[in-house]
Amino acid sequence: MNAGLTGVGDSCKPLGEAMLIKNATVLSLAGSTVERADLRIERGFITARGRKLKAGTGEKTLDLSGRYVMPGMVCGHTHLYSALARGMPAPKRTPRNFYEILKYVWWTLDRALDDEAVYYSTLVGLLDAVRCGTTTLIDHHASPSFIRGSLGTMGEAFEKVGLRGVLCYEVTDRNGMRGAKLGLEENETWVTKNRGPMCGGLIGAHASFTLSNESLSACAELAEGLKAGVHIHVAEDPCDQADCTRKYGMRLIDRLAEAGVLGPKTILGHGTHLDKASLDIAKNAGCWFAHNPRSNMNNAVGYAPVQQMGKRVALGTDGIGGDMFEEVKFAWFKARDGRNGLGIGDVVGFLTGAQSLASMLLDTRLGVLDVGYAADLVVLDYPTPTAVTPQNLYGHLIFGMSSQFVTDVMVNGRWVVKSCRVVGVDEEKIRAEAQRVARKVWQRFQKMPPKG
Ligand SMILES: [Zn+2]
Repeated sequence: MNAGLTGVGDSCKPLGEAMLIKNATVLSLAGSTVERADLRIERGFITARGRKLKAGTGEKTLDLSGRYVMPGMVCGHTHLYSALARGMPAPKRTPRNFYEILKYVWWTLDRALDDEAVYYSTLVGLLDAVRCGTTTLIDHHASPSFIRGSLGTMGEAFEKVGLRGVLCYEVTDRNGMRGAKLGLEENETWVTKNRGPMCGGLIGAHASFTLSNESLSACAELAEGLKAGVHIHVAEDPCDQADCTRKYGMRLIDRLAEAGVLGPKTILGHGTHLDKASLDIAKNAGCWFAHNPRSNMNNAVGYAPVQQMGKRVALGTDGIGGDMFEEVKFAWFKARDGRNGLGIGDVVGFLTGAQSLASMLLDTRLGVLDVGYAADLVVLDYPTPTAVTPQNLYGHLIFGMSSQFVTDVMVNGRWVVKSCRVVGVDEEKIRAEAQRVARKVWQRFQKMPPKG
């Protein structure tokens, strides 16, 4: 159905080779603009944008004949380790609440992951994401049976597909002191080596209710020492605040502030049950919030007060795939259903927020297709019966466009998807291998005694 770019240009362009993309209809979600333009790409960046740019000597030219081009999507919060959970056998007990979902599903599954499972889980998650036009993912990883080296294994999968990633290992006390220590070390190793622009890192922390004061402070100290942020789940369910009140006699946000977790590079996952005063404390500290509407609905934990979170909100999937076209639709429908007063531009702002967040964390410029920005772009073969204009672009995004129209994807100046195929990888072989690995993971999952 999708035409793609068959027969035009090379399948995989090495960095450094210049390329001229002609006659693109360039969409910008950040400013809601729709403009016919040519783009020159060199060394992974856009170096010229304008009408009727002339090809230089030896410069490859690609004529898009008006096809739509938009900046690569960014997923602001995900868990690639869950990619092999699709269709998994039911847990030993049917979870009755959020805590039991963690205990019987995710905290059992993550212990069933080994090196091979982490690799294939990441790889198939990335293949799915990039086919949807997602070029950067901010991940929060857990594999307690394979901690040391787990982020490096994930990094190999990112490199193979050619995507950008901000990774962290979730430090928690639920696997004992040794597990927490190894988690801290894994974050330190990864963050020290990966400072962008393709891979970066944060200090991962699970959530207040699985972290002692010592472990929480250790995360904050490590982050401060490495000039990184902390990536932590906050008040996803009321149980997080209730635990904090019971054990420490204080508000959750005050506990995080006291430990030194809050700051402009820190991501607070969900914030579903933070009150206005807590949100203000986080906002004043410059924190980012990751909003994951599909996950919140799926776990029945409630609707986050996104209308009070300010401008630093990044849309994420929380492990429900990597399709940001899909997630933003749900974000909008949930906002409508929740009658929180947000406009369509506010909700699209969560998507562009994720691009701004990733730009900061990877020390590069994402989310706009203009001179000086990274050449991360998505080509859409979008057959619309109505014109796409700056005034109705957001309407097209919510009610018309979807990942099924993504034909080609470029990251860092290199085509990673061409004509709906991921470049340089044998997708069928990888998926077959992933199914073999998933069967082993599921067997271990079924034998694993629940813990937590
Ligand atoms: Zn999460």
